[in-house]
Amino acid sequence: MTKKFFYLFLVLFLIIFLSFHNLNQTERNLSSFKKGNKQIPYNRNTENYTPIVDSHVHFMPFGGDAVPFNEVINYFKKSKVYFVNVYGIGQRVPIDSDCTYYLDCPGVPVLPTIKNDMINAENFIKSKQNDIHLTLSMTFPDLANPEKILQKMKLLDEEYPNVFNWMGEVNLIKQALLNNFHEPAVIEDISKWKDFMEELKKRNIPINIHSDLGNNNSNTKFLYLMEEVLKKYPENKIVWAHMGLSKELSNMKPENHIKIMKRLLDNHPKLMLDITWRVLEDNYFKNHRRIYTRFFNDYSERILPGTDFVASSNKNFESYKTDLEVTSQIHKYLSDEAFRNIVLGNNYFKLLGLDYEAPEIFISN
Ligand SMILES: [Zn+2]
Repeated sequence: MTKKFFYLFLVLFLIIFLSFHNLNQTERNLSSFKKGNKQIPYNRNTENYTPIVDSHVHFMPFGGDAVPFNEVINYFKKSKVYFVNVYGIGQRVPIDSDCTYYLDCPGVPVLPTIKNDMINAENFIKSKQNDIHLTLSMTFPDLANPEKILQKMKLLDEEYPNVFNWMGEVNLIKQALLNNFHEPAVIEDISKWKDFMEELKKRNIPINIHSDLGNNNSNTKFLYLMEEVLKKYPENKIVWAHMGLSKELSNMKPENHIKIMKRLLDNHPKLMLDITWRVLEDNYFKNHRRIYTRFFNDYSERILPGTDFVASSNKNFESYKTDLEVTSQIHKYLSDEAFRNIVLGNNYFKLLGLDYEAPEIFISN
């Protein structure tokens, strides 16, 4: 009799133990984020402050070799990043050049090309990822010479049907590239974007635009260019890369920067801000934590996170990890609501109309 009770007790104990263990497990994977799935609340004290979505990754460098595609995918898996935008890079140094980073080789032309997008598409199709969600991006467009963009979009669609669902990062004005024959777009060029912007709108494809706000001599020198784009294409989903900040613009008062961002966000409901690139943490967020946190909390549905990692062959997992950690420092200070929208992917899912959703945040008593 006592033996029977003992076994009964043991079985009960095991059932309770296992269900308790299940409740406390924090195993997440791509499918756990599917809409309608019961998700374990996200515990900000024990889980990552790094995002589950990296909206800005260059799988291809300006020149030289890239880290192999599947190796880059492993960086995400190891970092619990489940959703990634796969950027090429819109420009390449000549194929016979050994230059890998444009700033190291002034005078070498770095010009738009469609090659990187094709290489990414080939790798993407071959690698068949099912536990990571990749969004392929068209990075080829030369915004200063927009005449052939639509034609090339069609070419990509023919060769790789339904593969490309994003455009960018494309350069409107990128001062860092001016020594490499980058031709900034001018006001007249912007009106010539009409046909391809129309196509993007029709297909619900966002476009990530790199457009420097200005530089240390003139903080808002190029603002008029982005304003023109927003005025001309109010119905397009436009993502402003790095909120216009760059290495060339490190002395802007954060109050002035944020004021401009708020005005544009208020006036252009489809505009989103990309807060990727460690330069933003190093030059702005770190020293002005409170004011940027408040801004992101107030506009938490309009922000996309990520690293701006460039997978050139001199990089490795450590480099990705560092970029991810540095660009995520500010996430620690966000409100729970902003954390869910930005870090746990809700903004990204909504922007692309994906069938996923962020878990609730665990609240301890
Ligand atoms: Zn970038």
